[in-house]
Amino acid sequence: MRVSILLQITGDDGTIGPAEEMTAFEKTTERSEDLGLSIAEGKAMLAAVQARTVLAQAATWSQQRRCCPACGERRRSKGSYPLVFRTLYGDVELTSPRLHRCPCQPADGPATVSPFRDLLPVPYFHVVFTMPEPIAAIALQNKRVVYDILFRSTAASLRTIAADPRHLGAEIGFVAVLHT
Ligand SMILES: [Zn+2]
Repeated sequence: MRVSILLQITGDDGTIGPAEEMTAFEKTTERSEDLGLSIAEGKAMLAAVQARTVLAQAATWSQQRRCCPACGERRRSKGSYPLVFRTLYGDVELTSPRLHRCPCQPADGPATVSPFRDLLPVPYFHVVFTMPEPIAAIALQNKRVVYDILFRSTAASLRTIAADPRHLGAEIGFVAVLHT
């Protein structure tokens, strides 16, 4: 027989979502150990239900925060970035939206807002590397070479310092952006 596990999510507004198949098992009944779910089947079921539930909750969370909390205007989207949320039943890949700062907010505040930042335990640090003024003229004429050196050396610095047990003692990930 085929055992299919369906999941149906009803939103806070009462909207009933479609019944989605989370996982399915072909079951035979030859021996006593065939009865019920195996550990692997149980884990696969929990992982699928977990991922779908987290995705639904994350979507609701970001939808509710799409508008500016101060003035209620819908904030413009500035793309998204992937992130992994680690859970007891497996990792869930999420797409974290990034929103432009609302025009009603002070211009010296953060340029973008990521709603998941308040929800998920994903600590981050904003690090700025600057180049000495005299190098600017050289960089202007040799962009590829100078920026290549800049990105390589900043990446090496971040990884070396983060790996040092006196600091983080960790292998870190980062996204680097050239800002002139
Ligand atoms: Zn606003």
